[in-house]
Amino acid sequence: MRIDVVSIFPEYFAPLSVSLMGKARERGILDIRLHQLRDWAHDVHHTVDDTPYGGGPGMVMKPEVWGEAIDSVCAEPPPDAITPRLVVPTPSGRRFTQQVALEYAAEPWLLFAPARYEGIDSRVMAEYASRLRVDEVSIGDYVLAGGEAAVLVMVEAVARLLPGVLGNANSVTDDSFAPGPMQNLLEGPVYTKPPVWRGREVPEILLSGHHGKIARWRRDEALRRTYERRPELLTAVQDLDKADRRALA
Ligand code: SAM
Repeated sequence: MRIDVVSIFPEYFAPLSVSLMGKARERGILDIRLHQLRDWAHDVHHTVDDTPYGGGPGMVMKPEVWGEAIDSVCAEPPPDAITPRLVVPTPSGRRFTQQVALEYAAEPWLLFAPARYEGIDSRVMAEYASRLRVDEVSIGDYVLAGGEAAVLVMVEAVARLLPGVLGNANSVTDDSFAPGPMQNLLEGPVYTKPPVWRGREVPEILLSGHHGKIARWRRDEALRRTYERRPELLTAVQDLDKADRRALA
């Protein structure tokens, strides 16, 4: 998968060379290209922002600079001449979820446009919506200083879904929110050795080696945890069977 990021702080993305992301890049699973937005600003100060029309606090990112940047990145197409999906982080966007991460993981090319200040002139998103798929996406109901941290979150959530990035492919299917049996459920508690730590014992069932019973226990714990911590998620769980209802009783 190819990922381009245009930002005034490309150095913010150093963590993408660490751990799983770094290995995925080394192995050629992820092709991440970082670009300095100011390279497309032509004045002596490489200005990327200006005062907002209508007044108000803060600055707005200039459309000409973003337009040139996006055109230029799109003009270096991969061999099969596909276009990127343009992802613009903003608190007013569609909520980024595991479902969206899965959608993005199926894309060959993502172009992220993280803003600073009060955001990007809205005409940029309108302009590209006629040529590219444009998503304005929020990572949660809070306001960050800039979109770079949001991009890091999204890239990591997407990249770990790509085949070959995680050592064990089942890690993805067992995750909270994963499609399949865990859809709309939080993962339950997990344990490792030793079997007793400070007098606290690992649940006996996990030491039994009985795969069927362990799977049932895990689902029961996931259902209970979801009920306690995020009850609103449970309303979307389809087909609760008898055993599920017993776990929640
Ligand atoms: N005034 C804007 C508003 O209230 O929607 C917030 C601007 S914020 C200070 C600057 C940039 O940070 C945004 O344009 C966006 O790129 C990014 N950002 C902040 N919070 C975000 C969030 N929850 N999700 C995604 N991006 C966010």
